[in-house]
Amino acid sequence: MSDRVTGRFAPTPSGRLHLGNLLCCLLAYLSVRSQDGRFLLRIEDLDVPRCPHRLSLQAIEDLSWFGFRWDEEPLFQSERSAIYQQHLEQLQKQGLIYPCFCTRAQLMASAAPNLGDTQVVYQRTCATLTPEEAEQLAQTRRPAMRLRVPDEVVTFTDGLYGVQSENLAKDCGDFILRRSDGLFGYQLAVVVDDALSGVNEVVRGRDILSATPRQIYLLKKLGYPLPRYVHIPLLMDADGRRLAKRDKDLDLTALSRRFTAEELLGKLAFSSGILPEERPSSLEELTRLFDWQKVKQEDMRLPRSLTKDI
Ligand code: GLU
Repeated sequence: MSDRVTGRFAPTPSGRLHLGNLLCCLLAYLSVRSQDGRFLLRIEDLDVPRCPHRLSLQAIEDLSWFGFRWDEEPLFQSERSAIYQQHLEQLQKQGLIYPCFCTRAQLMASAAPNLGDTQVVYQRTCATLTPEEAEQLAQTRRPAMRLRVPDEVVTFTDGLYGVQSENLAKDCGDFILRRSDGLFGYQLAVVVDDALSGVNEVVRGRDILSATPRQIYLLKKLGYPLPRYVHIPLLMDADGRRLAKRDKDLDLTALSRRFTAEELLGKLAFSSGILPEERPSSLEELTRLFDWQKVKQEDMRLPRSLTKDI
């Protein structure tokens, strides 16, 4: 495997890409290109009913319109179930997986008071089922597959937010790798795909930072190297509100009628601190100007010029 930096953008096309996704793609791309690295695109359409193929194609078209190019054919997670299954079996052989028959209602009823976010720590109801009990339950219900996690702290250093740690058993709990409907979970797919594609730099939104310790644990159990992680701040509108689908004026169709790709790239680069002033710019110029030192930890705001005069 080459030691060149390899980064990627990995959108979930359950809707049209928004400017927050584009900012993430931009920073991942600039980081890689400024290190003369490889850039990959992976379409995370695991949840096929929620991610119709036309939205994947739309995402590719939108990214191409901005001038992004990738060094290999895009990967589609919806085509890779057999690979995820092999990895699940590898973990199964290590005794790390158990079937879970709990319904959603049971999970909610037994939820431990959680520690600040919406994540519920699983109470391990099914962890102690005997093989006979599991077999009996399997006759009426298809189980989800959970990964057993240890009472262990996972620590990593984020490129922007510094040292992060989490106790897997206490703060996260045993988590699902394959859902009861047969769809593979994001955590497994993302680490398998990053590892097999040689990704060694992961740039993504800070809303996923809390999943990183789980992913690090999985990578270690699968015997894969760890990438460097940089989580980036979220993008807010000019008033400091999170971008929402209802902001029709920030829809890419509307934006691409009003602005050129260079104008929009310039606005995103200005929001993130890469450009000192708001003006049109190209991916080539931004690659030359890029430096992680310029990107701040605070959430970024879009300039007001995006929404005024419409
Ligand atoms: N597919 C995820 C998302 O769109 C990102 C996954 C990742 O970058 O690791 O939020």
